[in-house]
Amino acid sequence: MTQRQPRRAYDEQGREIPPPTLADLRAEGDRTAFVHCDATGCGHEATISTDQFPAEMPFPDIALPLRCAACGSKEVGVMRDVVGIYARPRERTGWGMT
Ligand SMILES: [Zn+2]
Repeated sequence: MTQRQPRRAYDEQGREIPPPTLADLRAEGDRTAFVHCDATGCGHEATISTDQFPAEMPFPDIALPLRCAACGSKEVGVMRDVVGIYARPRERTGWGMT
């Protein structure tokens, strides 16, 4: 059993699911990320542009150089900016989440 990385997803068999790169997300029109501070008692959240990161960078790894703007913690987590994704015009796909 190989060591699991906390920033990677795994399927039911424990195989690593390759994360999307920023290039993959940009191809979908996704240029922002939701960032949250995991430090106890902070909870600072922000939506940032991913344009400052290289295209080949795996999306979860953009957390590595980040530091919380409120408390200075390096315990930063990132998620895809689902608000931005759902805010896109539904006409492009013809359906949306309800
Ligand atoms: Zn913080």
